Amino acid sequence: MKEAKNPKKPIIYFYAVTLAIVLLLNAFVFPSIVEKQITEVDYGTFLTQVEKGNVKTVEIQDNKIAFTAANEAGKEGIYVTGLVNDPELVNRLRADKNIKFSKVIPKENSPLTNFIMSWVFPIAVFFALGQILSSSMQKRMGGNTMSFGKSNAKVYVEAQTGKTFKDVAGEDEAKEALTEIVDFLHNPGKYKEIGAIMPKGVLLVGPPGTGKTLLAKAVAGESKVPFFSISGSEFVEMFVGMGAARVRDLFKQAQAKAPCIVFIDEIDTIGKKRDSGGLGGNDEREQTLNQLLTEMDGFNGEKGVVILAATNRPDTLDKALLRPGRFDRRVPVELPDLAGREAILKVHAQKIKLGSNIDFNEIARATSGASGAELANIINEGALRAVKCGRKYVEQSDLEEAVEVVIAGYQKKGAVISPKEKQIIAYHEIGHAIVAAKQKESAPVHKITIIPRTSGALGYTMQVSENENVLMTREEAMNKIATFTGGRAAEELVFGTYTSGASNDIEQATKIARAMVTRLGMSKNFDMMALETVTNQYLGGDASLACSPETAAKIDEEVLTIIKNAHERAINILKENIEKLHTLSAYLIEKETITGEEFMRMLEN
Ligand code: ADP
Ligand code: MG
Ligand code: ZN
Repeated sequence: MKEAKNPKKPIIYFYAVTLAIVLLLNAFVFPSIVEKQITEVDYGTFLTQVEKGNVKTVEIQDNKIAFTAANEAGKEGIYVTGLVNDPELVNRLRADKNIKFSKVIPKENSPLTNFIMSWVFPIAVFFALGQILSSSMQKRMGGNTMSFGKSNAKVYVEAQTGKTFKDVAGEDEAKEALTEIVDFLHNPGKYKEIGAIMPKGVLLVGPPGTGKTLLAKAVAGESKVPFFSISGSEFVEMFVGMGAARVRDLFKQAQAKAPCIVFIDEIDTIGKKRDSGGLGGNDEREQTLNQLLTEMDGFNGEKGVVILAATNRPDTLDKALLRPGRFDRRVPVELPDLAGREAILKVHAQKIKLGSNIDFNEIARATSGASGAELANIINEGALRAVKCGRKYVEQSDLEEAVEVVIAGYQKKGAVISPKEKQIIAYHEIGHAIVAAKQKESAPVHKITIIPRTSGALGYTMQVSENENVLMTREEAMNKIATFTGGRAAEELVFGTYTSGASNDIEQATKIARAMVTRLGMSKNFDMMALETVTNQYLGGDASLACSPETAAKIDEEVLTIIKNAHERAINILKENIEKLHTLSAYLIEKETITGEEFMRMLEN
């Protein structure tokens, strides 16, 4: 591999530069330092010294005379004086028998040294400097400008990823599908015997943070074969054609190392549909994709090269990439369910010290909809909080606070909220909670708080579903909408005004109501007609309308009716429980945070 030789080169440059510095010092700096100890005198002094007989040796140079003479202290010193046009000089010196004198023969370098010093050496220095500059520039740009088309896929072997299926909690379906691949890489004979062909490509799809990258690493760890990992964005290069060359190189390397796994993370960066016809800037990406398609056709799956890819935007991938023979197998990696969340919490909690009172189930129930990455973060935040509190182990309260931190942001310590506003916020939150609790199919509340958070939430009501439902009935949807309107309803009832505090509630309620009409077939007028298509299932789920403007107007009407009904119902519920609304709000203002149990107890008696 080329990486292996690279590190040695800079050392050679280093030696070259050191050598150059030494030579330069020798040539210019040291002599001038030595010269410093030489005393300069005038010609008269020189002549006097000669006459006195103090001078021992004289050396007549091109433009000066150097001589040694005994000074006043009787010690010998070196002196120089300017060369004066003095025809009598030789006679004067001969007068004293003790003086040795000579003229220096100008030193002549050999032609070879001259050539080396004036040509080879400067060129070598420039070359070395150039290499150093370009290599440091490459590092800064992250690319590899000089080695065209070399893929820099990292090769992981089993020991290096260090992950196995044990590290991935939940996701049993995904693990099962991938176990088959691992098994194939271990003994392909079993599959060949029966005539089965292993899928060439496996696409892991799911929302961010659900463990797709982690799963791929675990597959490498389990199968104990070389693992080439490259991210889609690494194919996109400064130079046109580089991406394609990289793909070619990657597959060449992979085939040489078969059986092995090639993992392309975030494949949507190169695998986007080719039809988009933008502003012509997509040439490079298309070439890369075409090369990938060709390579996937070109190699023989029997050799044991399996290609894993991960994406959270499968809908944007080019159809050609998904046809049989390429990424024909799709493994969904979904958000974890209740059991999955509990398992993920436990996996990550292995690394930290826990108190005895930890109830992971409760944390898992409070985090419906959280991804694996968020759960890992919750455990870490909990550990950080324990350290902050000066404890040696993590308590349940740390984890509970961590859930809120991850979901709603940190507590905003310095926030100044006027008593009047605090009162409105308390009524608003209690309004949500009472409406939620009084509708029998709504989940009970877990916690109500009016401590402002850095995310901008002024308070919130945390609902907990007892057990996870995969289906949502029309009644449940209506109840949810009513709960969202409960906050505003309480403000109206008690203060007779509207505040901006309900903006998020309004958005959420509308989202559900709209989905009921356009996608879930829960309205009277449109029966089972699909009026919207979801384009971005794993990233927020944007929907685009697919109907005539007249229908769109009718949809708006229906949505409004649903919300109005729910709002009315919330007001009615609160009117029936107005006493509770007052007492609970007063209690919340005093306490700032109350638990679900406290709330239910006060509501029921
Ligand atoms: P993705 O690639 O799907 O966006 P990652 O694989 O990078 O997500 O996951 C990010 C981190 O979240 C992982 O390193 C791991 O710590 C944690 N994580 C996610 N899912 C799981 C899971 N199922 N089990 C354990 N940890 C998980
Ligand atoms: Mg990832
Ligand atoms: Zn609200």
